[in-house]
Amino acid sequence: MIIMKKDATVEEINNVITEVNKHGLKADVSRGEFRTVIGLVGDESKISFTHLEVLPGVKEARMVDTPYKLISREYSELFVGKDESRIVQVDDVRIGGDEPVFVAGPCAVESKQQLFRIAGEVKAAGAHILRGGIFKPRSSVHSFQGLGALGDAEAREALSWLQEAGHKYGMPVMTEVRGEMQVDLIAEYADILQIGARNMYDQDLLGRVGRTGKPVLFKRHFGASVEEFLSFSEYIVAEGNKDVILCERGIVPVGKGKSFTRYTLDLSAVPVVQHESYLPIVVDPSHAAGRRDLIFDMSCAAIAAGASGLVIETHYNPSEAKVDAQQMITADELKEVIDTCKQISQMVKPHRQRVRAA
Ligand code: PEP
Ligand code: MN
Repeated sequence: MIIMKKDATVEEINNVITEVNKHGLKADVSRGEFRTVIGLVGDESKISFTHLEVLPGVKEARMVDTPYKLISREYSELFVGKDESRIVQVDDVRIGGDEPVFVAGPCAVESKQQLFRIAGEVKAAGAHILRGGIFKPRSSVHSFQGLGALGDAEAREALSWLQEAGHKYGMPVMTEVRGEMQVDLIAEYADILQIGARNMYDQDLLGRVGRTGKPVLFKRHFGASVEEFLSFSEYIVAEGNKDVILCERGIVPVGKGKSFTRYTLDLSAVPVVQHESYLPIVVDPSHAAGRRDLIFDMSCAAIAAGASGLVIETHYNPSEAKVDAQQMITADELKEVIDTCKQISQMVKPHRQRVRAA
């Protein structure tokens, strides 16, 4: 990363960018209140740091030896405050701010009636963002794959319901992009593009999604370390898109016996990620637990651990859902989660502020 002098001119900054580009690297330019910092994107061995350091206006050229840097606090602290985190704003919803944000909706969009009923109910329960899968990642090709799999017209129709439901109930909408071919279509309708756990490692998809400039909810793969999770999120940010919301959704359980949950919710990932990165992190207790009777407990724990929000699968009649019926909760249950989590968030706030100020 290249730290510019406080009084560096626009010409000097542009000159550095040109120099970086000449060597086949991209420049991530971050203009802070006091100084500009330029992060190099690409193979740093192609450029000489001693050469960069003597360019006019440059204060320091620093090699960063981590697999992720554009999302790191080490980088952000150079242009924003030490403890400032990024707030991803979608319409009037602020993810990463002082208040937790709740994303709710069905696992899969199944019909217009189903989606609109759930949308109205989750809104009334206090949700801020509506979710609903149209292209579903499924383990069996013989199971319901989401309405998107039925054809282009069906995909467009389901996406338009999602958009319409969002408008009707005043919520931004989020849906999963499972492959590169779906990116442009989904970006036409959704406010937030979701990268599912299975696609965390698909760097081509991440690049494509990053280039849309739309906010991205980026899920951790169930076999990924926190370091891999952060490193792969950098593929989105490297496209100049810093509106990334990280999402912990459980990792593979260990041992031979029964685990009793679908995945193991790694809640320590929440404070760890916040220590490493200035991107907001939310938690999905639904896919982690895979059981509706654990959603309240895991939600409370996630907010106590500092999560900026939750993603919760909700349905008026969970047992009739075609996908993930066992983990959906009703809107009444969602309301209890949201009301309690808001209180927990207030309770832990003074502690969090003290830690940040220290
Ligand atoms: C989902 O949120 O619909 C989903 C499939 O989750 P995950 O990618 O975490 O399994
Ligand atoms: Mn699901």
